[in-house]
Amino acid sequence: MSPDGASRLSCAPNRAYGDGMMTGGTTIAGQIERLIMRLDGAAVCDGCVTDRLSLSVPAQANVVTRALGGTRGFERIRDTCTLCGNGRTVTRHRAK
Ligand SMILES: [Zn+2]
Repeated sequence: MSPDGASRLSCAPNRAYGDGMMTGGTTIAGQIERLIMRLDGAAVCDGCVTDRLSLSVPAQANVVTRALGGTRGFERIRDTCTLCGNGRTVTRHRAK
């Protein structure tokens, strides 16, 4: 792997998340949201979100990114993933 700009995201998530448990702001949804926002408009696919946050299954990222799409500047589009270069459905955050 050759992580580019996002390699600074060293917020190494511990694996102390539970299934849907709201435990003090370190929810998977919160982590995904912050990751995408930090990429500053760059588009990432669910697979890369999964990889970056060391989620156990891509479905976790998919549920969250689908929910984020269309809210608060997040959008789901068909584009090239910034991190893996694959053309697929990606999520990005556009700062106004
Ligand atoms: Zn990707």
